[in-house]
Amino acid sequence: MTVMAIRMYIKYRNNKYQILRTTSVWFFQIVFAFLIPEILVRFDKPWYDFKNAFPLDYDFFFSWNLNSLIASGGFGLFILVWGIVLTLVVVPVMVYFFGKRWYCSWVCGCGGLAETLGDPFRHLSNKSIGAWKLERWLVHGVLAFSLLMTGFTLYSYFSGAQVVLGVKTQTIQNIYGFLIGSIFAGVIGTGFYPIFGNRVWCRFGCPLAAYLGLVQRFKSRFRITTNGGQCISCGNCSTYCEMGIDVRAYAQKGQSIVRSSCVGCGICSAVCPRGVLKLENGPLENRTFSPEFPLGNTLK
Ligand code: SF4
Ligand code: SF4
Repeated sequence: MTVMAIRMYIKYRNNKYQILRTTSVWFFQIVFAFLIPEILVRFDKPWYDFKNAFPLDYDFFFSWNLNSLIASGGFGLFILVWGIVLTLVVVPVMVYFFGKRWYCSWVCGCGGLAETLGDPFRHLSNKSIGAWKLERWLVHGVLAFSLLMTGFTLYSYFSGAQVVLGVKTQTIQNIYGFLIGSIFAGVIGTGFYPIFGNRVWCRFGCPLAAYLGLVQRFKSRFRITTNGGQCISCGNCSTYCEMGIDVRAYAQKGQSIVRSSCVGCGICSAVCPRGVLKLENGPLENRTFSPEFPLGNTLK
């Protein structure tokens, strides 16, 4: 990640947003995902990555973790409260103000890897309508699966029953851990960058991205505004959108981009030769309309 971050610095040396963003994901990965947890363990505290929010951190409510946190006294309880507050308060409030980019493109480890190691493969994302439909089914399906599993987990934890509705909670946890945690997030999500592009996990599988996306779509100040009159239809923006969004179609119509999947990486803006695209946080009203075309249009 460090080597590929240096590559990003060189490639986007004239783009302040990309330099800052790359520094941010690198910092959060090195300090939050590696250094702080290792230091905690040295001091006999639980291993914990303070930026890894549930449901991406899908085993946060597993009994072994809850027992470990509770057994660790005040500090463990602090982690328990922080983990809940992070998911229920910090994440949605930050998405309201800044869009999901604050997490997916500035903080997250998966996003950090995708934006450094995966950058050479971003153009491979599938741009078809079929992929968009599949994306919505899959990513929301994984979110529902993670919530269902967590419901079973918490019921088992508080009631002591290991079987809920005829199904062993442990079995559901094992299936989720293997299929989603290992195969989808690990093998496909990272190993298949050269085939499916660099955000295949974030786009099709991450339950946290699905949650952030719902807030971004319906209750966020973030949007990408387009200056349609300047667009020369070169298609660079669509080609390099790692989430498979047809950015050019929005630009041609002069419509602001408000999509739940947009991670706000800003590459569409960076590669646009005409300065058409701007990542902005503004008022909630009329956010799908562009200042250039105040009456808006019908593209959803
Ligand atoms: S629309 Fe632009 S900012 Fe959003 S994911 Fe695509 S390239 Fe990144
Ligand atoms: S990169 Fe810029 S000029 Fe080219 S199609 Fe996209 S918005 Fe239009």
